[in-house]
Amino acid sequence: MTSALLTLNAGSSSLKIGLFPLVGEAPLARGLVDRMGPDAILKLTDAQDVALPTSGVITNHFDAIKTVVAALRQRWPDLDVLAIGHRIVHGGAERSEPVILTDDVLAELTDLAPFAPLHQPHNLAGVRAAMAAFPGVPQIGCFDTAFHRHHPWVNDTFGLPRFLYEQGVRRYGFHGLSYEYISGEIQRTAPHLAAGRVIIAHLGNGASMCAVRDGRSIASTMGFSALDGLPMGTRCGQLDPGVVLYLMDQKGMTAAAISDLLYKQSGLLGLSGLSNDMRTLEAAGTPEATEAIDYFVFRCQREVGGLAAALGGIDALVFSGGIGENSPFIRSRICESMAWMGIEMDPGRNAGNERLISRDNAATRVLVIPTNEEVVIARAAQAILRSNQEVRA
Ligand code: AMP
Repeated sequence: MTSALLTLNAGSSSLKIGLFPLVGEAPLARGLVDRMGPDAILKLTDAQDVALPTSGVITNHFDAIKTVVAALRQRWPDLDVLAIGHRIVHGGAERSEPVILTDDVLAELTDLAPFAPLHQPHNLAGVRAAMAAFPGVPQIGCFDTAFHRHHPWVNDTFGLPRFLYEQGVRRYGFHGLSYEYISGEIQRTAPHLAAGRVIIAHLGNGASMCAVRDGRSIASTMGFSALDGLPMGTRCGQLDPGVVLYLMDQKGMTAAAISDLLYKQSGLLGLSGLSNDMRTLEAAGTPEATEAIDYFVFRCQREVGGLAAALGGIDALVFSGGIGENSPFIRSRICESMAWMGIEMDPGRNAGNERLISRDNAATRVLVIPTNEEVVIARAAQAILRSNQEVRA
């Protein structure tokens, strides 16, 4: 019997699937369904990166899971899926740990959909599809907000009347699975830094930064929604709320039109008029692409400064995410004016995407740590399976 667990990360138009053993962190297989719908594209590979044959029409998350599992069963005919772990963007104000998704928990998470309307419904669609495909198999929710649940109150609130905070209008912070993974890697590989003041920059199509002290998030750039903080591929980042009022009052824009503008037409895409993709902008060299990069870099620098102030200093800056892991150019641009914070890049190490990219004698370490959100979900599912077995024993 090949006992294993699945990890699912369901987005609006994509589904990432991982097949993991019950012990260990190396995936047995990985799948990605892109452009969910009539033109869906599925890529499924085993641990050696060899493509696994798939067949079937995929129009939604349920089809996608069935198609992937059928392909996995061809490869491992005795496959027994014992648990399914899900990435869920919003766990609300209280949840700081993964949880088994009972009907009650699902109802609670469904009520949170208005807080993350572009992500939560799709995450939960993935859960329901997995429940239908695997009745009776434990489904485990892992929350992007959970890592930030120990923020001090000042980093959790807005300057609004207090009753709104009580009603949930507060800074939740996101990308928590990525931050949890990176904090674990720091603990594992550089324990002397784990007790220190670390800023993690998760710079991908979605981008945020997190201030971590003693392994715990104390502040982050994303707030109530995944719009705040840094400019992203298509999201605006920090914005004066007066802009939203102006667009509504003076330009007659509806909430739906403003939502589309802020989530899908802004950020690098909106500023460059060209692309949400940093590689494309780096190669383009047009004045607008250059300015979009300049703004991204400037906002990153401001947030590093702000988070260092929240931490009372900085011992390490960690780059992660597609841009943070792969772009020496953006990393060096962000760090170029930060010698005053003890940040001094070693150009050779940076060009080679090495793990340590600062100079040996620099006061602040600068690291590149590839993130791995799937492993965090797999660990949670493994731990819950273990504790279920202990209860039964
Ligand atoms: P993610 O959402 O973490 O997959 O990151 C996607 C972003 O990473 C896109 O903007 C990509 O253009 C960017 N990216 C990936 N590789 C590189 C690279 N070699 N140089 C610059 N940006 C990159």
